[in-house]
Amino acid sequence: MEIKGFIQNSLLEWEGRISCVIFLPGCNFRCRYCHAGHLIQPNLLESIEEQQVLSYIKKQRDWLDGAVITGGEPTLHEYELLDLIREIKTLGLEVMIETNGSNPKWIEKLLKHHRIDAIAMDVKAPLEKEIYGKVIGVDFDVEIIRRSIAIILNNGIEHEFRITLLPGIVGVEEVKSIVKELKGAQTIAIQNFQPDNCLDKSMRSLTPFSAEQLDEMAEIAKPFAERVVVRGREQAALTSSRQ
Ligand code: SF4
Repeated sequence: MEIKGFIQNSLLEWEGRISCVIFLPGCNFRCRYCHAGHLIQPNLLESIEEQQVLSYIKKQRDWLDGAVITGGEPTLHEYELLDLIREIKTLGLEVMIETNGSNPKWIEKLLKHHRIDAIAMDVKAPLEKEIYGKVIGVDFDVEIIRRSIAIILNNGIEHEFRITLLPGIVGVEEVKSIVKELKGAQTIAIQNFQPDNCLDKSMRSLTPFSAEQLDEMAEIAKPFAERVVVRGREQAALTSSRQ
């Protein structure tokens, strides 16, 4: 399996766990704020040997809790992804997948057969074709996203839905609409917009949301989840200092 990036340990990617992070190439979306342009055009990066990653995990497994598999979009790798998960779990680590929700069939497979221990799914915009397309940069049937949400909510696995803000497209009103789709979630994460290195260069000059706006959105989300977290307060602080 092609691996295009590897972080040996992180406390950020999977809260409460010390985890390594594995980056797989390719994505079927082209989100305007994507910071993984090098992964969605995978030929730009050298591959890392899977055996090298597995040997590291084997050596460090006593103090690593888990592995986060991300991308790009990891579910595009289907059976290769299953094999990778199986190898990691054989070494005793838990596994979390980060997904854009575009492949409910594989999300269901991963959940049903208990191959993963947690999942984080992006919900990029209100579930309407036009606005979703504006964020992800391609035409996509939002009913597919709705199906992935339902599969995760009905499964009971540890999960988090992530809403990344996009000035002028995904703000307070859109968050109101998105969180209604996530009723009963364990965690909803509101993630501030980060202009640096956005795939769409025209986004790089936009201003992130302020701390007050982030707090307002967190309040809106609270009735719909057991827990709401806000990420990107550093960006908000930069915003306030520029005002
Ligand atoms: S889903 Fe969007 S943000 Fe995530 S890797 Fe693909 S293009 Fe980038």
